Amino acid sequence: MNRSTSSDLIRRAKRSIPGGVNSPVRAFKGVGGDPVFFNRGNGPYVYDVDNNQYVDYVGSWGPMILGHGHQPTVDAVVAQAQKALGFGAPTEGEITLAEAIIERVPSIEKVRMVNSGTEATMSAIRLARGFTGRDKILKFTGCYHGHSDSLLVKAGSGVLTLGIPNSPGVPAAVAADTLNAPFNDISAVQAIFAQYPEQIACIIVEPIAGNMGCIPPVEGFLEGLQDITRKDGALLIFDEVMTGFRVHKGSAQGMYNIQPDLTTLGKIVGGGLPVGAFGGRADVMSYIAPEGPVYQAGTLSGNPLAVSAGLSTLSHLDDALYERVAQATDALVAGLKALAAKHKVQMATNHVCGMFGLFFDVEQVENFDHVSNSNVEKFNRFFHAMLDNGVYLAPSAFEAGFVSGTHNSEAIEATINMYDVFGLGNALV
Ligand code: PMP
Repeated sequence: MNRSTSSDLIRRAKRSIPGGVNSPVRAFKGVGGDPVFFNRGNGPYVYDVDNNQYVDYVGSWGPMILGHGHQPTVDAVVAQAQKALGFGAPTEGEITLAEAIIERVPSIEKVRMVNSGTEATMSAIRLARGFTGRDKILKFTGCYHGHSDSLLVKAGSGVLTLGIPNSPGVPAAVAADTLNAPFNDISAVQAIFAQYPEQIACIIVEPIAGNMGCIPPVEGFLEGLQDITRKDGALLIFDEVMTGFRVHKGSAQGMYNIQPDLTTLGKIVGGGLPVGAFGGRADVMSYIAPEGPVYQAGTLSGNPLAVSAGLSTLSHLDDALYERVAQATDALVAGLKALAAKHKVQMATNHVCGMFGLFFDVEQVENFDHVSNSNVEKFNRFFHAMLDNGVYLAPSAFEAGFVSGTHNSEAIEATINMYDVFGLGNALV
């Protein structure tokens, strides 16, 4: 497959952009080789600047649950663009979007829009600290909550890919207030709360971890977090930037039937435009300015284009869509697993609705240690075999894959066929 235009572009990009990219994982540092430059998408497919077609399992890192070029969403954005790009004043669409979020996610009584997942989690942490009057927070190793200082400690995603456990520039004093526990380990959380009683402002957790592959919660884990925080007076924050509206119309909390105190959203809620949101209990959200003392603001927050894309996307997420996404993901994972077995390749898989993770040379993956033991070098070869045959997976062994409602049986079967003939058959055995 000829990707010479992409290779030319990354050389040019490196002269004006650090590493040639505006977000690290895009650079293919983990998997090696030159990143692919895309210029259009349609349904489950994306097309690069050399006009190669790929089945897309990145979906802009999650937002594209309705596939690329979802016409009603494109039309909504265009219609809004013709009226105005923004005012920096309140608009009715913001209320409609807030109402749509609140209607779908019962734990959210009030919600504030921001511009990225990072902003959402950073603001939710500040709010939890302001509300409780406590400084410490607890996160889980391998969970990624964006790149704000407090949260860039033992994080997942690009930090794992690049091997930066803690970034230079994060003050030691800030990192010291971030406690860590292994994901899915409730006794570790109990021990930490016993050590720091009434000192921890919040637990922040990805209810389904998606930044170290895809790792669902073990039974009782999320319920355990709720019990512990309630007893101690800490807040429970579900970071649903990735899982929000991805796994269920009420997000992961709707699927597992848990009501966190605060929730962070991003990706799908912006329909592909730059959006984040945080919301939750009305008494906690009332601590946010201008109602309360905890400061948070944004020039472009609630931007009309972003709001129109988010509203259109949410309005198309019905039970039938989730059913279709779940079935396509089941078929994909079952097909890949069967072929791995046929070729005697050890591959563990996890998947929940439209999220999946593939892990080589391990049997089961429930936490960061398990992911770390997987064979990254084998994943990288697999990734390139797939790429060269028209399947675009996340360029890192530590990222979840995403399936959209447009991944029909043709796209799924094409993926599995490529994997059989070229992926496992040639590259891995
Ligand atoms: N939280 C989670 C769970 C995420 O997956 C991400 C991004 N992948 C973020 C926060 C940060 O979001 P953003 O990249 O929009 O800042």
